[in-house]
Amino acid sequence: MEYETVIGLEVHVQLDTRSKMFCGCPADYQAAEPNTRTCPVCLGLPGALPVINRRAVEYTVMTGLALQCRIPEFTKFDRKNYPYPDLMKGYQISQYDLPLALDGHLEIEGDSDLEYGRRPIGVERVHLEEDVAKMQHFPDDAEGYSLVDVNRSGVPLMEIVSKPDLRSPEEARQYLTSLHSMVQYLGVSTANMQDGNFRCDANVSIRPAGADTFGTRTEVKNMNSFRSVYLALVYEVERQQRVVEDGGTVVQETRGWVDERGVTVSQRSKEYAHDYRYFPEPDLPPLNIGSEWVERLQSALPELAPQRKARFRQDYELSEYDADQLTSSRVTADYFEDTVALASTGDNRAAAKEIANWMIGDLSYLLNQDHRDISDCPVSPGALSELLGLIADGTLSTSLAKQVLEDTYRRNAPVVGTAIHIGFSGSLSQPIGTSVSPADIVQEQGLAQISDTDAIEAAVAEAIAANPKAVADYLSGKETAARFLMGQVMRITKGQAQPELALQLVQAGLEAQRP
Ligand code: ADP
Ligand code: MG
Ligand code: ZN
Repeated sequence: MEYETVIGLEVHVQLDTRSKMFCGCPADYQAAEPNTRTCPVCLGLPGALPVINRRAVEYTVMTGLALQCRIPEFTKFDRKNYPYPDLMKGYQISQYDLPLALDGHLEIEGDSDLEYGRRPIGVERVHLEEDVAKMQHFPDDAEGYSLVDVNRSGVPLMEIVSKPDLRSPEEARQYLTSLHSMVQYLGVSTANMQDGNFRCDANVSIRPAGADTFGTRTEVKNMNSFRSVYLALVYEVERQQRVVEDGGTVVQETRGWVDERGVTVSQRSKEYAHDYRYFPEPDLPPLNIGSEWVERLQSALPELAPQRKARFRQDYELSEYDADQLTSSRVTADYFEDTVALASTGDNRAAAKEIANWMIGDLSYLLNQDHRDISDCPVSPGALSELLGLIADGTLSTSLAKQVLEDTYRRNAPVVGTAIHIGFSGSLSQPIGTSVSPADIVQEQGLAQISDTDAIEAAVAEAIAANPKAVADYLSGKETAARFLMGQVMRITKGQAQPELALQLVQAGLEAQRP
C-alpha cells in the first residue's frame, strides 16, 4: 500500500522583548540566577493584575503581516486552564477563538521527491500567550524531587500554527528553516533552538495515497533541533505505517521524541479544547488593533530574506547559489554587506564576488569545523576586508591569505574555559581580549609574499644546485621538472615567493644551464 504523509507544525517563538508579557519583570531569564525575575503577577499570586506588553503585540502583528495574514480589528485573550506545577496560576493566558493573525502562508521549495513543488503552506493562525516556569527534575536522588525556576514564567510566547499542508519530513524541515529565518529577519526573536527560544511540536498522520480525508494524527514533542524534528517525523511516519500494516489503528496521542534512542514514545492521550475550559480572560480588556496601527507596522517591516536575496542578485550580480547562501540568515547577510562596505574601493561587484567566495568557502569551513555560528565569528568584517586589502596590494598570495585567515580565526576564537587562561599571556603578543588582525599576523610571522627578484633568484639557484637530476630531466625535454623545481623554491621561501614570478625565474635559471 502507498501512503501519503500529512504534517502540520505548531511553532512556539519566544519574543525578544525587554519585559515579560503581563508584568514589568525583565524577560532576560536565560542568564539570570533562578527566581530573580519574579513579581506577584508572574508568580501567580491572588489579586495580582496583568497588563499587556505592547511590544509583544506589535511583534506578533509584524510576524502575521510577514506571513501575509489577515489582522482582525478585534482580538482578546483567554484563559486556558490546566493543572501543572510549572503553571503558576493554574491557567495560562493565551488566545483561543480570536487570535492576533489569521490565514497566512509561507512559501517552501517543496520536496523534490514529491510532485507538488514550490508552493505556499497555509498558516492557520498566529497568537500570543505566556511561557511557563522551568522545572528541573532530580528523580535519582534517594527521595526524588523537582525544583521550579519561575524566571521564564510570563515570558511572551508567540504560537504559529500551520495548516496540515506539509507532505514529508523534508517539507517540514523547509517550512521550519524558512520560518526560523523569518523571525530572525524580523528581529522579533533570537530564535535559538538550543535555548528553547524556538520550539516546534509536529502533528503527523498518514493516509492511503489519493485519499481525501485525513488520518488520525499524533503530536510529537521534545525536539530541540531542526535535525531532531526531521528524524522524529521520519520515525513517526514509519511507526504509523507499521501499525496500520500490522492491522492496528493509529491512536490520537502525544508522543515524546527521545533523542538518544532515536524513537518516539507515548506520553499521554491527546487532550481536547474542551478539556482546557477556555473562557475570556476577565482581567484584561479586549484589544482593538486599528488599521492605522497595522499600516504603521506594515510600512516599518524590515527587508526579509526573499527581497534581500533579489537585491543581492541585482546589486552585486551574485549567482542564485551565492545569494541564497548569503541571505540564509540575517546575520550572514549583514556580515556580507558590512564587509563589502569596508572592502570596496569603488567596484562593489568585484569586492562582493570575492567576499562571497571567502565566506562560502574558507570561512564557512572554519565555522562548521568549530560548530560555531557566524553571529560569533572570530574574524570580523573589518578583519576580512583587511585580508582582502593585503591580497589586492600584493602582500599576500591567495594561499598565504588562507593561512592568515585561519590564524586570525584561531587567535580570536574565545578559548573554552577562559578562566584557566587568565594570567597566562606569555606566548601571546596581544593581551587577552584584544583582537588580532590579519596585518598583525603578517607582521608577526614575517609572512608577506616575496616579489623581490633578487631574493627569489637566490632560492632558484639553491634549488637548481641541489637537484641536478631535475635539471637534467628538464634539459632533455621533461618540462614538468620545472614545476618540481618551482615547488622547491616555494619550500625554500616558506611559501612566500610570488608564484608566477618564481616559475618565470626557475625557467630562466634552467634555460641558462643549456650548454
Ligand atoms: P489542537 O488544537 O488539538 O492542537 P489544531 O486543529 O490546532 O489542533 O491543529 C494542530 C496542528 O495539527 C495544526 O498544525 C494542524 O495543521 C495539524 N493537523 C490537524 N489535523 C492533522 C492531521 N490529520 N494530520 C496531521 N496534522 C494535522
Ligand atoms: Mg494546538
Ligand atoms: Zn513578573
